[in-house]
Amino acid sequence: MKAHGFRDTGKLYRRPASPGIQTPKTLARLMRALDRNSNVALPLRPRGAGSSSTDCNLATQGTVINTTALNLISHIDTYNHTVTAQAGVRIGELIAALADEGLELIGSFDQTERTLGGAIAAPCMGPGIGDQASLLSTQVINMKIVTANGKVMKIGETQQHLLSAFRLSYGMLGIIYEITLKVRPIMNFAASHRSMDVDTFAQVADRLANGNIGLKFYLMPYRNHVYLDLRHFETVGGNAYNAPWKIKDWGESTVLPSVFRSLSRVVPIPSVRYRLMDSISATTHGLVNSKLVRNGNNVTAGGRHRRRKPSNLLYSTWCFPASDFSVVVKAYARFCRESFAQTAYRCDLPAVGYRVARDNSALLSPSFDEPLIALQTVSTQRRGWDSFVMDLSEFAENWGGTPLFNQSLSTRDAYVSQTYSGRMEFFKKLRRRLDPENRFLNPYLARYFE
Ligand SMILES: Cc1cc2nc3c(=O)[nH]c(=O)nc-3n(C[C@H](O)[C@H](O)[C@H](O)COP(=O)(O)OP(=O)(O)OC[C@H]3O[C@@H](n4cnc5c(N)ncnc54)[C@H](O)[C@@H]3O)c2cc1C
Repeated sequence: MKAHGFRDTGKLYRRPASPGIQTPKTLARLMRALDRNSNVALPLRPRGAGSSSTDCNLATQGTVINTTALNLISHIDTYNHTVTAQAGVRIGELIAALADEGLELIGSFDQTERTLGGAIAAPCMGPGIGDQASLLSTQVINMKIVTANGKVMKIGETQQHLLSAFRLSYGMLGIIYEITLKVRPIMNFAASHRSMDVDTFAQVADRLANGNIGLKFYLMPYRNHVYLDLRHFETVGGNAYNAPWKIKDWGESTVLPSVFRSLSRVVPIPSVRYRLMDSISATTHGLVNSKLVRNGNNVTAGGRHRRRKPSNLLYSTWCFPASDFSVVVKAYARFCRESFAQTAYRCDLPAVGYRVARDNSALLSPSFDEPLIALQTVSTQRRGWDSFVMDLSEFAENWGGTPLFNQSLSTRDAYVSQTYSGRMEFFKKLRRRLDPENRFLNPYLARYFE
């Protein structure tokens, strides 16, 4: 018997598209991928370097739009101090191209493998000095977007409300194709270093969080120790050498994680292993930070330029009100120690923290109402991590933490709505208008934004 093909039905029938990844190299291809008539599996999820720790950049049943081939730096305006670049340009490449013209990004950002699009659509934060904006997205003055139906939309400086919605929009309002950012001439800062126990840090945390300085720290809760990196602008010009910052970055992001992974294999007794790991971390931070790195700028502090994220690093970031941090930091250290005693799980790398200035330039800005301290818990120890981050999330909720949609793991939906409240409702309304068929919503984002 003859099989019935689609001709017999009189209707055109399209085979459902399979999930996959598209890597458009041009605007035309990006538009085609998003066109309603293109046979692509839904939902559509843009992805830059993929360095987020949540599922915000995944589409297991749909299509991932990998933006890394859109990697052109179109124009650096040395007179007006702006740069225009495509979304897939790596932050490290942008920093290097600007430095050749004597310019730098406004803010210190050290994950150089991330893409400009990912750094604008999701928080890209670092220790800003004083009230200087900590989010890179604040500096955006123009954007070109490809919308849910494959059309180009331009947003300019005069459309502040739209700009504010598209900054930190996690790819839910459209795919950012091109961005123009404000930049500035390179400014040197002096970096000074201190180390102290957690109680002493708690005593000075208020003063540091409110001072006109940039604050970054490395916290070792199981050793009861904190290493501080304090930055302030230099009034007299000094030399900011690249090499010490590259060594620092290499030590922190390559040497420590890979040494710890090897130690996990060859030293089976946890107490011995963790003692060794803590000693290595303490020596690295003590030596590299305080002895090598004395001054820098946002070019040198970016560290080495990488194209891939450090492999196997697990992390979850929460932000806490800077005004409460003196209490929160002691509670965090206690939480880590108690959790280790109860579950035998602990993180092997120091937690990293930095101050984020108040910034209401984006609707979904985590520091919309007040300055925060971002606290990033980092580990290479996979077994036990999932239940640890669930406890961490409960801890963070109890202490008024603000979650980041791309970096805070195991966040409850109700808590997210409570934290972002009215701003989230406004964002949802706009999202429904721009993407009524939820083409950009994957199950993870639908939990919060449907
Ligand atoms: C070891 C480590 C340390 C980190 N430290 C920091 C830190 O100190 N500070 C900090 O802020 N972050 C940090 N991060 C988190 C992360 O690097 C940033 O959030 C980064 O900005 C994400 O960029 P990406 O290119 O990897 O984007 P992705 O992770 O690929 O995507 C992030 C989000 O943006 C969306 N998106 C990506 N490109 C586009 C586009 N063109 N248009 C629209 N939407 C888009 C994605 O859909 C997703 O929702 C760290 C990550 C790691 C692995």
